[in-house]
This record gives sequence, C-alpha cells and structure tokens, in this order.
Amino acid sequence: MVRAKKHLGQHFLHDKNIAGKIVSNLIAGECNNVLEIGPGTGVLTSFLTQREDIKLKLIEIDSESVEYLNENYPDLNKNIIEADFLKVPTVKIFADCFNVIGNLPYNISSQIFFKILENRDQIPEVVVMIQKEVAERIVAQPGSKTYGILSVLLQSYYDINILFKVNPKVFYPPPKVTSAVVRFIRNERKQLDCNEAIFFKVVKQAFNHRRKTLRNSLKTVTDEINTSIEIFNKRPEQLSINDFVQLTNIIEGNR
Ligand code: SAH
Repeated sequence: MVRAKKHLGQHFLHDKNIAGKIVSNLIAGECNNVLEIGPGTGVLTSFLTQREDIKLKLIEIDSESVEYLNENYPDLNKNIIEADFLKVPTVKIFADCFNVIGNLPYNISSQIFFKILENRDQIPEVVVMIQKEVAERIVAQPGSKTYGILSVLLQSYYDINILFKVNPKVFYPPPKVTSAVVRFIRNERKQLDCNEAIFFKVVKQAFNHRRKTLRNSLKTVTDEINTSIEIFNKRPEQLSINDFVQLTNIIEGNR
C-alpha cells in the first residue's frame, strides 16, 4: 500500500460510489483527451479506464504512487507521467486539447487553477475535487466577501458549477475540511475585450488590497490617469468581470 504523505496533500478517497460519480460527471464532449492530476492509488483511474470514449493520461508526482499505478494499470504504463503538474508544459502532455480531472492536492489547488487559466484554450473542461471553501470562493459573485482573484479570472473564461459536497470521512487520512466537486466548462469568450495581460495584473493588484478603493490600490499603474471618475471610488469586490474589463481599458487607453 502507498503511505499517505502530508506534504503532497495526499488524502486517498475510499468511497467507490463517490469516485464513480465524479468520473461520470466528466462530459468530455468535443475533446476526448483526459488528464488525471494526482491519481494516487487510482480510485478515479479505475473508473476512468472503463470509459471507452476517452484517451487517458495520468500525472503524479509521488514515485511510490507511480510504482503502484504501473503495477495495477499495466495497460496505461506509457501514459503514466511521473512529474509535477505545475512544472511540465501542457503541450508536452497533450499536443492539442485535453480535459482535466482529479482529486486535487488542496495545498496547491490555486496554483493548478492559475496553470489551467494560462492554458485555457487547450482545456475545455475541468472536473475536480477541492476544498469546499475554495469551491465557494471561485463561484462567488460581486458583493460577496469571498469574491476574489480566482472568482474573477476563472469566471471570465469558464462557466463553473459546484456539483456536490463530500464529507471528510470518506478519505484516508480524513482532511480537516469538507470537500466539493466542481465542473468548469470553457465559455464562449475566446478573448476579453481588453488587453488580457493587463486585466490579469489589474485584478490581482486590486484584490491584493481588497479593503482599499481602486484609486489607492492601483496607484502604481494609474500615475498618469485621472482617477476622479466614479469607478476608482469602488473596492474590487464591487466590480463585475465587465467592470474589470472597462477598468483595464481605462488604464490601458491612458498609458
Ligand atoms: N486521486 C487520489 C489521490 C488524491 S490526493 C484519490 O482520490 O484518492 C492528491 C494526489 O496528488 C496525491 O496522489 C499526490 O501525490 C498528488 N500530487 C501532489 N502534488 C502534485 C503535483 N504537483 N503534480 C502531480 N501530482 C501531485
């Protein structure tokens, strides 16, 4: 058996019904490549290998889990990649589109989401288990206390749904928090109506000081701009995606 390693965020799911339910929520409609992140001891993998409509690859950082998977899934061998998902360029895994599935290591779920965002045009669908609290943050709407960087950036490019919640006791060892399974579907917005690199920067900088008005938090990027207009009186949590696009254009147009 594989010993659970805390520093790798390992909490192995032992409820087969839940594992089956997660896998059946993956649509894999137009693109049938699927990457499982962090398969561990393969509880999702065992359901994924039963699906004939997908082409599966696994990426796992833990050599002990990889050894276990190689022994138990001999047919998959050349599709089991021992590596850190955060470090491998996605085009080296699949040359074209792929969907993502996994019970993510919770300690790096935000970094995984930023990597998905960077590669959004390659990744049409994501079905992942994360901390419930993180799931609620990424679907949060303007005006909510939990609305933040990942809510704005992910919702800009994906339609996101919380599918169901999962109790800690179905994992070994149990995590301290409740979990939730979410699905992202790439939306129709191929390109935001502004300079996207600046949009990312503005969103991050605004939320780094979420209690401040935008006039104060964005000082370093607005030095030559007239910030007396109304939008700069607001705080980032009051802005919709379209407001951030507009704000980006105000900043960009005045550079
Ligand atoms: N899918 C399994 C394990 C989930 S725990 C199950 O449901 O039981 C998270 C898994 O992600 C662990 O196997 C851990 O080793 C792996 N992992 C952690 N960091 C990783 C990284 N950077 N890249 C790939 N896999 C990672």
